[in-house]
Amino acid sequence: MKYIKLALLLLGIIIMTNCSKNNVLLSEWDTPFQTPPFDQIEEADYLPALKEGLKQETKEIKKIIKNKETPSFKNTIEAYEATGQLLNKIASVFYSVRGTDATDVLDSIAKEFSPMQTKHHDDIMLNAKLFKKIKFVFDNTDRDSLTTEQNTLLDKVYGDFVRNGANLDKKQKEQLRKINEELSLLSLNFGQNVRDDGNEWELVLEETDLTGLPESIISAAANIATVRGHEGKWVITLDKPSWIPFLTYSDQRDLREKVFTAYINRGNNNNKYDNKEIIPKIVNLRIERANLLGYTTHADYVLERSMAKTAENVYDFLHQLWKPALNRAKAEAYDYQSMIYKDGGSFKLEPWDWWYYAEKVRVAKYDLDDNELRPYFTVDNVRDGAFWLATQLFGITFEERFDIPKYFEEVKTFEVKEADGTHIGILYTDYHPRKGKGVGAWCGGFRDQSNRNENWVYPLVTNVGNFTNAVDGKPALLSLDEVETLFHEFGHALHGLLSNHTYTNYTMPRDFVEFPSQIMENWAVEPEVLKHYALHYETGEPIPDELITKIQNASLHNQGFATVEYLAASFLDMDWHTLAATNNWDPIEFEKASMTKIGLIPEIIPRYNSYYFKHIFAGWAYSAGYYSYIWSAILDSDGFQYFKDSGDLFNRQIAEKYRKYALGLSGTEDAAETYRKFRGKDPEIEPLLIKRGLK
Ligand SMILES: [Zn+2]
Repeated sequence: MKYIKLALLLLGIIIMTNCSKNNVLLSEWDTPFQTPPFDQIEEADYLPALKEGLKQETKEIKKIIKNKETPSFKNTIEAYEATGQLLNKIASVFYSVRGTDATDVLDSIAKEFSPMQTKHHDDIMLNAKLFKKIKFVFDNTDRDSLTTEQNTLLDKVYGDFVRNGANLDKKQKEQLRKINEELSLLSLNFGQNVRDDGNEWELVLEETDLTGLPESIISAAANIATVRGHEGKWVITLDKPSWIPFLTYSDQRDLREKVFTAYINRGNNNNKYDNKEIIPKIVNLRIERANLLGYTTHADYVLERSMAKTAENVYDFLHQLWKPALNRAKAEAYDYQSMIYKDGGSFKLEPWDWWYYAEKVRVAKYDLDDNELRPYFTVDNVRDGAFWLATQLFGITFEERFDIPKYFEEVKTFEVKEADGTHIGILYTDYHPRKGKGVGAWCGGFRDQSNRNENWVYPLVTNVGNFTNAVDGKPALLSLDEVETLFHEFGHALHGLLSNHTYTNYTMPRDFVEFPSQIMENWAVEPEVLKHYALHYETGEPIPDELITKIQNASLHNQGFATVEYLAASFLDMDWHTLAATNNWDPIEFEKASMTKIGLIPEIIPRYNSYYFKHIFAGWAYSAGYYSYIWSAILDSDGFQYFKDSGDLFNRQIAEKYRKYALGLSGTEDAAETYRKFRGKDPEIEPLLIKRGLK
């Protein structure tokens, strides 16, 4: 009997190898460090490989269910955690390439595959037999027999199922499914409405309307006009790269008001794109779902998996920041009002004037021109500066490799090594825009680090950007903002490269995840670090002290406004999601009450009004979580202060603790605990207040 089974098994392997012979994605990767063999992958390989990945995972799950032994951490939780590796391997490559080099074919594969993946995920989460085993382990395991990491994994896996409704009875499950379906439809509508209401709007400018606008903004507006069928004119749209420079530079106050008013009323125009009725529906369904799953509010449900833990903690810390930020913003409003009078105006500062007068005051006060800085920031120098910083902190090194297959010729690959030469992982850098690349900058990867059964898997991490290209025979010269972004993404990359996990199936709390990235931005503008990497591309001279001082002074400019508009939106988000009873809310009234409560000044509005607040209503990624960015900012300022207080920005002892806990073990235990282990105490708010000039 045994032999027959074995023979069948062998036959199965042969058959499988045969049909996958041509699909390189399904074979072992015979490349340096088993990196994806991009030179051999064809677009047609993806879908069959992804489908095979789904199939494999289904088989792996079945195997766990069929196991006759008593469910244990090893045969159930660990086994479940290890499922889906083939799917992950292929999906990581697919989604990464689609993010940087989208084509019609890749888009259509994604469209076809996405519902399959959703159904696959639902099938697992609603698999009662699987959950029964997981619950058995959860209820019966002696927690002392598990490591901290294993305990975290057990809670995470059990929690995933419970949060997806596994503990509900049949009727309730049906109810939950209905709520989820309705919510996903409403969220989709919400996002589309914001997009379509915004897209249709345009302001066509005549030549006399261009006063104050810099040449680059004028030519961008001319390009948009051509695309939109207004050849020979200039067009402003509600896309950020269009409306923000317009509000910053246009001398035409009435047009600034027009653009601003259009921007803040997307989804609120009483037309077919209006979102005012959708909002209470979403809010109410979220309350119903939370109640069904045993929570009082949506915020309780979401925050359970955050570092902040409770809505009370979030409010508490938002309030601590609010007062100093509002005071600073009031002082800024006074400065800008004075500038209006100085300019001969007699009107009161309004929200659509803010950008314009902030810019005037900035130029008068700090005299910092981005074009003065750019020659010191060639993309290679900045990248090498980030590498050099990591070497100072952790002793690790970066060596460019020329034998690793790339997904695009311009990409560079670096082997990251310990001081003693031990391999750590590979970093792919891909810094400039091209057709098919998504907007913004991000950190991704093709493989996570893991150490299942003492089998160390080396991470493959990417840093992607859309930084200024090289032109006119000059190297690519970055703006200060781009420099900070490069360091930011590099911080995420270090998080991935230096992780020290047994498993990969963790949740990184949203309010912690920007800590390793944002902390790097602190070093980027420190004089000691700038002097090292910011060298003039023609003369090789380091950046002069006078420019460094200007950078430091200008960094405090307009921070009251930036903090206040952000915090106001965070309060709004929390107010919506701490509601415990359903009601037919009027978003405009609700928002007014919410802002009156915190005393927002009329010259500033929240960064997002409810009817176009996509972060929280189009999908729920940031619902009860918009505060996360500034929570992470507290951590990064406080964490960086630790280095500063030691008198050594590259303090190796502190860096080792940072590496071990904040980067290495984060996710494997409570995030507040991770932070405490690194810092020796809880984070304080002071360093952030000082950094932003709010104190
Ligand atoms: Zn980030």
